[in-house]
Amino acid sequence: MGGQAKWRKAEIEELKRQSPEEAAVWRQMQNDKRSVAFGINPESLDIAVPAAMARALSALFNEAKRTGDIDPPVTLLYTTINATVRGLSDVPVACKKGCSHCCYTWVSVTAPEALSIAKIIKRRGDATIEKIRLAYQQTKDYDFDARTQHPRPCPLLEEDLCSIYDARPKVCRLAASGDAEICARTFHNITDENLPMPVMHVTARGAYAIVMTAALRHAGLPYHAYEFNAALTRALETVSFRQACMGLKTRPPDYRVADGTSPEPAPLRGITTCGLPPLLEEGAGRKPLSPRHAVLCEVQ
Ligand code: SF4
Repeated sequence: MGGQAKWRKAEIEELKRQSPEEAAVWRQMQNDKRSVAFGINPESLDIAVPAAMARALSALFNEAKRTGDIDPPVTLLYTTINATVRGLSDVPVACKKGCSHCCYTWVSVTAPEALSIAKIIKRRGDATIEKIRLAYQQTKDYDFDARTQHPRPCPLLEEDLCSIYDARPKVCRLAASGDAEICARTFHNITDENLPMPVMHVTARGAYAIVMTAALRHAGLPYHAYEFNAALTRALETVSFRQACMGLKTRPPDYRVADGTSPEPAPLRGITTCGLPPLLEEGAGRKPLSPRHAVLCEVQ
């Protein structure tokens, strides 16, 4: 049986298991996934692909609430962004392997991305977890503007390479610069120049931010962007996406009372429906961005 026939058979089996309503949603999602196979084209004015992307993501977020597995929507997001970036390969950029100046600034991330990356970090063990916590301690007092005066490397940067390259956040995937020397000066707080950024990458970043916002809102999940170190630290304390969505009780790993006994898990105060409390003050990180900062940040 050929690949197409096998796929069709699996689709029929899946549809047989579902109610008519579920089948309609599932069929729509398959169509939407096919529509976004080549990614959002930032040069196109056609909103069909962004709309399909938002629908497919929203369906997968709803599914994640049921299964507790946040990876499928995050994987679709990243696969689709990769397709968009491949479509922009003829746009000249100064970025190349080993160039990491933009990894020294504020990075924005959504809650599902943070929860998905946190799973990878947990598998790496205590040393990596400690690195994230330390980075958060070093950066937590800086708001978006102050952070530019205090460049700090991303805790996941190792020898100028991203140690979670295949799982890096969407803003990192769509970061692009026209001049690496200006990056070197601005991201290390030596000068305050405007960074030349390819308009197609900026447009694509905006499109994916809007799509992600729409999908999360539609699925009833928080749609804010969080500072990366803070979101990861918070996500590392969250056992699972299912738990995060349900707002169940949890306890940070180092939470112990003085006599060494473990108290009953305390509800996380300020928890959102996705388990990440608003790590930023209302409105923080959503100010108009200067071109210098916008390379790794997004307005949602
Ligand atoms: S996640 Fe990777 S690409 Fe993004 S800032 Fe950190 S090291 Fe750089």
